[in-house]
Amino acid sequence: MPNSEYSLKSKKGLVVGIANSHSIAAGCANAFRKAGADLAVTYLNEHALPFVSPVAGALKASMLLPCDVREPGQLECVFEEIADKWGRLDFLLHSVAFAPREDLHNHLIDCTPEGFALAMDVSCHSFIRMSKLALPLMSDGGSLMTISFYGANKVVENYNLMGPVKAALESSVKYMAASLADRNIRTFAISAGAIRTRAASGIDRFDELLDAARLQTPSGHLVGIDEIGRIAAFLASEAAGPLTGSIVYADNGFHIMA
Ligand code: NAD
Repeated sequence: MPNSEYSLKSKKGLVVGIANSHSIAAGCANAFRKAGADLAVTYLNEHALPFVSPVAGALKASMLLPCDVREPGQLECVFEEIADKWGRLDFLLHSVAFAPREDLHNHLIDCTPEGFALAMDVSCHSFIRMSKLALPLMSDGGSLMTISFYGANKVVENYNLMGPVKAALESSVKYMAASLADRNIRTFAISAGAIRTRAASGIDRFDELLDAARLQTPSGHLVGIDEIGRIAAFLASEAAGPLTGSIVYADNGFHIMA
């Protein structure tokens, strides 16, 4: 990096949400690493480890830790490890979402209270929990990032209960940004364009959503995970200093079209 304000050299970052090399979190982790950051990355469970491990290896990640945000104590263990090894954290990326298939495939009105609560817990409240655990490690300030989607604001066919869940996530970003500003901790959601990933394949008729997104995007081109990664690396850097509480659209302009 020619300009040090854009560099993440000597910065320490946590990346939660790599399922495999196609994950948005993998694209972000690559960009963080390219900008010079040291990374701790997590994997969901033993089934996920064979897919995450090569990504962590390529990143030369300093830590590879288990983290299922539903497992009591696991998130705490991640932060204990980071406290032991690094004693501080400069940024974190939450790139995690889940909803039970049946609830996701039904209209919002038909989703179960349990499905709604689970989706909200994994996809939204875990960001709040994670951020709270990060605070003691961010005494010099920091950057908290999560990944959202346009379906938070407008009705996107088949996005169903993830719409209100992402709306809550984006609102949480703003409230956290306001309350953490005096600690110089900045909070963002990157609203990513549609990308074919493992989580996305859980959305009913995702291919149709991709086709519709391509048609609505001014350039006709969908975004890729490397492009999302470059935005995330910028937001983690000191160059993004004046920004906080922003929902940053990384979607080739998809969201500006009527
Ligand atoms: P992905 O499947 O690669 O990543 C989703 C991640 O969530 C996985 O790593 C999975 O292990 C993790 N996860 C699920 N439940 C978890 C739990 N209980 N504990 C810890 N981790 C858990 O898919 P992706 O598309 O890269 O998704 C990343 C984020 O991007 C999600 O928040 C998703 O909603 C968002 N997003 C995706 C798109 C898209 O089109 N792919 C667009 C906008 C936003």
